[in-house]
Amino acid sequence: MKAFVVEKFGERLKLMDRPKPTIGRVEALVKVKACGIGLTLSWIRLGRMSGSAPRIIGHEIAGIVEEVGDGVTNVSKGDSVAVYFYLTCGKCEYCMTDRETLCTNFKGNVGTRTDGGLAEYVKLPSENLFKFSKAKLSYSEASIISDAIATPLHVAKRRAVIRPLESIMIIGAGGGVGIHMVQMAKLFGADVYAVDVSEEKLKLASTYGATHTIDANDPQFVETVKKLTNNKGIHTVIDFVSRPSTISNGFSCLSPNGKIVLLGHFHPEDPLHIDDPQDVIRKEISIMGSRYATKQEFREAIDVVERGLIKPVVTARYKFEDADNALRDVEEGRVSGRAVVEIA
Ligand SMILES: [Zn+2]
Repeated sequence: MKAFVVEKFGERLKLMDRPKPTIGRVEALVKVKACGIGLTLSWIRLGRMSGSAPRIIGHEIAGIVEEVGDGVTNVSKGDSVAVYFYLTCGKCEYCMTDRETLCTNFKGNVGTRTDGGLAEYVKLPSENLFKFSKAKLSYSEASIISDAIATPLHVAKRRAVIRPLESIMIIGAGGGVGIHMVQMAKLFGADVYAVDVSEEKLKLASTYGATHTIDANDPQFVETVKKLTNNKGIHTVIDFVSRPSTISNGFSCLSPNGKIVLLGHFHPEDPLHIDDPQDVIRKEISIMGSRYATKQEFREAIDVVERGLIKPVVTARYKFEDADNALRDVEEGRVSGRAVVEIA
């Protein structure tokens, strides 16, 4: 089969011939129809996430079940499925209590420790496959639920715990995950302040429900936010960029009893720095991280999309053979919303 491979960390993706996977008793073979392309793939390509190379990357996968092992009961040949991409044990304290992202026997991600979806076929544990209705969603739309929509659901429901009428600032609001966070915050009843670097991304955020947009490079960033909020500040900042400048800006905008939720990938050279740590105490600020979504939340993410409450924002579609160009466009900031590689 044809597959895109990171042969050595740091290199571009190469289109290669690889053997079609053979499945075990509790595994399924999925014919890939679509695979989302986000910045996480860049981190994997550069070797900044755990895993090993050579590796077929890609974790936002939707496709058709082609074959199942003898022990598989949750999916059958011909089902349309989306992929939960964490490889968890299903047995530890966290897996047993709807907190799989904290699994103590975590085995990594699809596409870092096992081969992923930028290929004609992928082999997966059947417990990572969730059916969706082909009548309601295209494969491209379903593929990005995996990360770009499930992750915001976890943030809204489990970490930020967004309540109606709260002010929510989303930093990186025009990106693949950010644009769905905008919609999710809106769905939870929040007043959404979108922050990003380009007019195009801010416009996209407005289209999908942001009430206010703020240029991330505004030299008067904090003042601007103060004016927009009548000096109240922001209740919850959700930072998908998590660089020192964005954390500093976000932190400075928080109201008393505010929260800042950090996601994305910390650059190893960036220490977590708070300009005035006394504010954490004075204003009773919560600083928290958020990590992907649980299987139950993934199921809910499929449900909210099928019900039409969240619209998958696929803004760029690429042919399979252009997968590396797709990744390059994402890496160089040319994609607002999510890019998807479609496989005929
Ligand atoms: Zn576990």
